[in-house]
Amino acid sequence: MALSGLDIFKMLPKTNCKDCEFPTCLAFAMQLAAGKIELEKCPHVSEQAKEALAEASQPPILGVEIGTGEKKFKVGEETVMYRHDRTFVNPNAFAVAVNDNDESSKIEKTVKMVNDLKYDRVGQLLEINAVCLKNKSKNRDTFLAAAKKISELTAKPLILVSSDSETLKNAAALYKDKKPLIHAVDSSNIDVMLPVLKETDCPAAIRGKSFDDIAALSGKLRGEGIKKLVIDIGERNFKNDFFNQIILRRAAIDKKDRLFGYPTIVFPDEMTDNIPKEILIASIFVPKYGSIIVLSNAEPQNIFPLLVYRQNIYTDPRKPMAVEQKIYEIGGPDADSPVLITTNFSLTYFIISGEVESSKVPTWLLVMDVEGQSVLTAWAAGKFVPELIANYIKKSGIGEKVNKKEIIIPGYVAQLQGELEDELGGEWKVIVGPREAGEVPKFLKNYVSR
Ligand code: SF4
Repeated sequence: MALSGLDIFKMLPKTNCKDCEFPTCLAFAMQLAAGKIELEKCPHVSEQAKEALAEASQPPILGVEIGTGEKKFKVGEETVMYRHDRTFVNPNAFAVAVNDNDESSKIEKTVKMVNDLKYDRVGQLLEINAVCLKNKSKNRDTFLAAAKKISELTAKPLILVSSDSETLKNAAALYKDKKPLIHAVDSSNIDVMLPVLKETDCPAAIRGKSFDDIAALSGKLRGEGIKKLVIDIGERNFKNDFFNQIILRRAAIDKKDRLFGYPTIVFPDEMTDNIPKEILIASIFVPKYGSIIVLSNAEPQNIFPLLVYRQNIYTDPRKPMAVEQKIYEIGGPDADSPVLITTNFSLTYFIISGEVESSKVPTWLLVMDVEGQSVLTAWAAGKFVPELIANYIKKSGIGEKVNKKEIIIPGYVAQLQGELEDELGGEWKVIVGPREAGEVPKFLKNYVSR
């Protein structure tokens, strides 16, 4: 079990110096015990206490890295039950299942789809994270041949699933440098797998049908210093496994029980044969609390909604997504191109810039820093108002880039037109643009053909 706030408090200097930005050492200790801050925030902890507190300062759900190189991913390190309590930390991973006894061409096609499927959305790359190879053939050579093929076709991390410990042992030894997730260690093979995990340092999934099974496995491995674990619990029944995920999260976060403080893996692909239902189940595990979610296919129409949903759940609700304040040149504008202005909320920027691009009208897009707020929010907060907009336009240098001093403002703040012209000293004409981004292409085409 993790240390309580009082246990931690006893090991702190108890000077209440506030260097950690908490009013007292006790307040700091409570936050540390809750996994909400890092031990490093107190610069006065003795080396001896640091050692003793190392475990308490780890997040209640340990982080586990799968794979190596650019495509590796980390799951876990979560500290809250609900996203609105603070934020979720490491986005869940999506893996696509491949059976080792599938036709070679089918394996190739699926892996290619996993490699190729990527979307650039609000400046982030959305993609599938891993390939999950299953030993459906029950044959060791078939499995190892498929693992070899897949590892040659993709840099994405592998999840290697077999019920045969010799097969897993071979696979772990062959691919230990790629750090695949070895699935699974259970009560029947733990004595064989324990030395393999020590030797290869590969992360492993522990598989049990009950909480007692999981506690016994994680306790034994933890006692041997093996902590790169992922929990696989349940019977592949959605209702039960859904509740299992919640109970595991509560045990780790609320009860601080280290035996359950690991990321999890869930298999919607084994819960139903109905694809829309599978995707729906997968979407439920995104916020509730599947760390690795295995799917049966990589069809874009199934994956895209999941990737977008994950992106939304795993953005930090405390920090608006923002882009840099600057003049963006879209389509190679020149001195006669139109000038638009908007705010630096990522979604606003990407939607507007996308519409400008699709208009094929070369345009200067001024993006003003309003702490990542949308146009109307920034206006209501007093951050996108005539005086500040005028200051930004003047200092941006856009006046030196264009012949005609006309600036197009978003239609939602049409009321700023007159005051903004005054603030700009009559040097600029302010034009009211459309309210909706979708109307931008038509507006720009009409604007340049006047
Ligand atoms: Fe206590 Fe350390 Fe915080 Fe100072 S910095 S108040 S010693 S916990």
